[in-house]
Amino acid sequence: MEPLTHSTGIVHPFPEPPAPGAVIEVAPGILWARIGLPFRLDHVNIYLIEDGDGWAVLDTGLGTEETMAAWETLVAGALAGARLTRLIVTHMHPDHIGLAGWLCRRFGIGMLTSQTTWLTCLHASLSPDALDATPYREMYMRNGLDRATTDIVVTQGHRYLRMVTPLPPTFRRVVAGDTIAIGRRVFQVLTGDGHAPEQVMLYCPEDRLFFAADQVLARISPNIGVWPVDPEGDPLALFLRSLAALRAGMPADTLVLPGHHLPFRGLHGRCEGLAAHHEERCQLIAEACAREACTVADLLPVVFKITLDPHQLGFAFGEMHAHVNYMVGQGRLRWVKDGDTQKVIPAR
Ligand SMILES: [Zn+2]
Repeated sequence: MEPLTHSTGIVHPFPEPPAPGAVIEVAPGILWARIGLPFRLDHVNIYLIEDGDGWAVLDTGLGTEETMAAWETLVAGALAGARLTRLIVTHMHPDHIGLAGWLCRRFGIGMLTSQTTWLTCLHASLSPDALDATPYREMYMRNGLDRATTDIVVTQGHRYLRMVTPLPPTFRRVVAGDTIAIGRRVFQVLTGDGHAPEQVMLYCPEDRLFFAADQVLARISPNIGVWPVDPEGDPLALFLRSLAALRAGMPADTLVLPGHHLPFRGLHGRCEGLAAHHEERCQLIAEACAREACTVADLLPVVFKITLDPHQLGFAFGEMHAHVNYMVGQGRLRWVKDGDTQKVIPAR
């Protein structure tokens, strides 16, 4: 997740976020709360959607003691006396799904999410040793990372497990194209890839409300990464395809309720801005590769001008690899072997 300056026509109808433990009503029967995160991105947005005599919950925060305490404060304070009806999880990242198991047990509710969200989260917890398996190490080294850095990056995945409580034993699968009635509203289920596989988004055409999860954020560009389990994947192409579909599928004045930062109007300009941001990076990569053949690791300083800590490096590497795979897929670059490494050069 990085700051982004491309923002055309973004309007924030609620300029201040809710204080810890407080909620803001962003539309009739839609409450916005925030839960803290111990990262540079220091919060995740949680929404409560009026659901008959209670509230459906959208996303959870990390699976940590601090987040449990934040939820207890919410239900004892701003939500006092309210019943929670069900949990909807947008994607498998720990700030969104981390507390799902605990929340479902604590409030006796069921969880709705996509099959891929469920399976990827489950997979990480069932086979933690797979994270640093040899083929995954080799993927980083083949793309130019040294052994010491590879050791650090490849074990970062274990952090995930420390931020996720065990999932509830069952879930309700939702699929793109479904409609779900929540209270008096009917939402269309959309899914998008690129940031996380089969990320769930909800759109209410009648009220022009869009729960965008992390697909479209107002201030930062969501991380789009290639991960070692799918080294030839093209998540950037999938992300750009999703942005185009969102832009075409919703009116310009839709109220976007994202996973981080402020709700906003200006979806069309934001989708265009995010696409332009990625194309700008592709241009930098094309220029660097025109000067000399580059590994993915060689390209990091071309785009990231700051010194990256190991945590940032893992995400930056994945993001850079995504751009390279995208440009290879587009026929703008091609791979060449150089000893044990692979590099990219202009395709023509
Ligand atoms: Zn995310």
